[in-house]
Amino acid sequence: MRPSDVPAGATGVVTIDLARVAGNWRALAALVHPAECAAVVKADAYGLGLSQVAPALAAAGCRTFFVATIDEAEDCRRFVPAATIYVLDGLLAGTAERLLGCDARPVLASLAEVRCWVEQTGSAGRRPAALHVDTGLNRLGMSAAEVQALAHDMHLLDQLEACLVMSHLACADEPDSDKNRQQRTVFEQLRPLLPSVSASLAASDGLMLGAAYHYDMVRPGYALYGGQASVGRTTPVAPVVAAHARILQVHDVAPGQTVGYAASYTVARPSRIATVAAGYADGVFRHASRASGSDAGGGSMAVRGAVCPIVGRVSMDLTTIDVTDVAEPVGVGELAELIGATLTLEDVGHAAGTIGYEVLTRIGRRFPRVYRNDEA
Ligand SMILES: *Cc1c(COP(=O)(O)O)cnc(C)c1O
Repeated sequence: MRPSDVPAGATGVVTIDLARVAGNWRALAALVHPAECAAVVKADAYGLGLSQVAPALAAAGCRTFFVATIDEAEDCRRFVPAATIYVLDGLLAGTAERLLGCDARPVLASLAEVRCWVEQTGSAGRRPAALHVDTGLNRLGMSAAEVQALAHDMHLLDQLEACLVMSHLACADEPDSDKNRQQRTVFEQLRPLLPSVSASLAASDGLMLGAAYHYDMVRPGYALYGGQASVGRTTPVAPVVAAHARILQVHDVAPGQTVGYAASYTVARPSRIATVAAGYADGVFRHASRASGSDAGGGSMAVRGAVCPIVGRVSMDLTTIDVTDVAEPVGVGELAELIGATLTLEDVGHAAGTIGYEVLTRIGRRFPRVYRNDEA
């Protein structure tokens, strides 16, 4: 990434490689074959741009997409006219018409939602939907008791076309967790009670738990965008995203001087401090600030591949980094890498006390997005 690659007037840029998104989908599809590999594109494809990412995935062969909301479903339909679209947040009151309008399927998470869907679409014949059963996450989904009640309600089931029975794992990023096996056992008990053409349990990290977790369909999001969620296992995907911001100034700062708000960082040696045009409003977590005297915590950026610690407080639009140790002097107009070849999503998330998912969905919202097709 060269400074001339950043559009004039932009303080930073997010670069997204669509060929790699497609390549990641193909790699995961091959890994889980003969199960189907769907794609989770909620939250604007994890911040990477639904309008670009969804068509790239469809062109790679993806036929099933998951979004969180009805607004996202309507958007998604414009970009993937022929695909199946599921809405993970389920059926909100008064939205059945809109779901039918964009031919999206709600992921029904309670008996009440099932009744609502059947009532509101009754005259239109049996309507396709997914059924979400809770197997221990206690977040969304029907309890075992609700599944039993539904299983005995032939009248209700008759009016429903259950295309998918799904559940979601709590600890899939920990391959050794007993919770995974427990949830699988509950899923095995509940699934046969419901009529459905297919079943799905795993997301990005769940699909790394092995074929026993694949069922008929897996639902990765994060891994498609290059994320490595699973602890101790490497998902066969390549990085997709980079974010860079301009260095606006470089200061020589003498020992004893402080840097940034609250004067929380005191320079201990003659230092060169670069001011980068990205702050917490650009997804640089304020929690990645570094106070002097504390070795613990604090994030980094990279300049020409050299890791440079964030010093002082991250502010809204600006972050100060220590570039003293970069081999050749760092100059104004150079770029600092927020995430990319040197700093992975996981590195950056870890340093900010969060996860790569949060980094990904918040990075560079006011930066232009540049799409590439490097592997094409
Ligand atoms: C977000 C989500 C996914 C995708 O999760 P990743 O970890 O990003 O792969 C799958 N299923 C459900 C129910 C989700 O909410």
